[in-house]
Order: sequence, then structure tokens, then C-alpha cells
Amino acid sequence: MAKGKLIVLTGPSGVGKGTLLRSLLKRHPEFFLSVSVTTRKPRVGEINGKHYEFVTRQQFYQMVESGDLLEWAEFAGNCYGTPRQPVEQQIRQGNSVILEIELAGARQIRQTFPEALRIFVLPPSLEELELRLRGRGQDSEEAIARRLQHAQTEIDAASEFDVQVINDDLANALSRIEDVLCTPV
Ligand code: ADP
Ligand code: 5GP
Repeated sequence: MAKGKLIVLTGPSGVGKGTLLRSLLKRHPEFFLSVSVTTRKPRVGEINGKHYEFVTRQQFYQMVESGDLLEWAEFAGNCYGTPRQPVEQQIRQGNSVILEIELAGARQIRQTFPEALRIFVLPPSLEELELRLRGRGQDSEEAIARRLQHAQTEIDAASEFDVQVINDDLANALSRIEDVLCTPV
């Protein structure tokens, strides 16, 4: 059986990665979305084991020490990481796996999985990004400020990625991502 593909989706917080992925997975349930572990507190409506596995810092560092994470990073005051075992298992079984992760993690994956396809999602402007972060209504002012602070650094790294997609019109961005993922190479 052919090995599955590893796909990395990165972009500043609030750009619409989660929204794009929800639509993509409805249309393409064959993709496996990796569930990350995080020390961040759950937002309203987030379900443990579905959106993230919510863990303590101690549990997180234990996973790092045991080599259980494929990549990990600290972002805006919290730790995030990709559990290794489910991703490797899905790829071995021939399924394509999507990681929705920030820049430092995407750079680690480039080292460990150079064959991964890496997509960067850009906002139409920083002003629109701020509107989306506020419109989501889920983060404190402090959390929004930290996310905006990171955004420019992340956007500056967009050219490191294989593909750049501007999430202006949602349907257009989705169809671009679909084209990239579903066109045989
Ligand atoms: P991320 O997962 O990148 O942090 P989200 O998917 O949570 O971002 O999206 C942040 C906010 O932006 C949400 O309120 C979402 O509904 C909105 N959004 C996403 N894509 C678009 C778009 N193309 N146009 C306008 N609003 C969008
Ligand atoms: P949020 O707190 O908004 O859910 O996520 C903040 C940032 O962490 C986002 O850019 C998201 O892509 C990233 N992220 C989520 N899971 C992981 C992960 O497992 N590893 C890394 N490196 N980043 C992650």
C-alpha cells in the first residue's frame, strides 16, 4: 500500500484555518485531521479529544521527554504539539494526514518530513485579520494582542511554504486548497 501524504496548514491565528478545514473535511472525509495536545484552556464549545487534547504543562513536558510529539512549540503563552503515533499510523495505512500548526512547528516538520506538502494561509490584510480575531469573540484582549504580534512574523515566512493561499473569499480559498490537495502529482 502506498504511504499517505503529510500536509501542513499554517497561517496566523484568526486567518480562517479552522473554518477552511471544517469545510474541507466535510467534502473530503478521507483526510485525517491530527488532534493536537495543548496547555491552552478550552474555549467555549471546544471538546476535549475533538478540537484538542487539553493537558497540563506537566503532562505536556512528559510527552516531550518521552518523544511522543512529532513537533511542538510554544505560542502566545501556551504549548501545542502533534502526537506522533496517530499520524505515523495513518500515513503507514495509506491515509493523508493534515496538521494545522504554527510556524515553528511547520519548520520542524520540514526537517523531519521534507516530503510534506506545506500550505500557508494569508489574510487579505492585517486589518481584516484583527477584525476576524475580534469577530470570533473567543479570546481576551491580551490573547488577541499576542496573536496579532506574532502575525507579521508568520506572514513574513509565507514564502518558505510550497503553496500560499489568500483567504479572502472563503469559497475561493477552499477551492484552491482542494485543487492543491486533490490534484495527483
Ligand atoms: P484560525 O483557525 O486560523 O485561528 P478561524 O477559522 O477560527 O481561524 O477563523 C477566525 C474567524 O474568521 C472566524 O470567526 C471565522 O468565521 C472568520 N472567517 C474565516 N474565514 C473567513 C473569510 N474568508 N471571510 C470572512 N471571515 C472569515
Ligand atoms: P489556537 O489557540 O488559536 O487554537 O491555536 C494557536 C496556534 O497554535 C495556531 O496557529 C495553531 O495553528 C497552532 N497549533 C495548533 N496545534 C498545534 C500543534 O500541534 N503544533 C504547533 N506547532 N502549533 C499548533
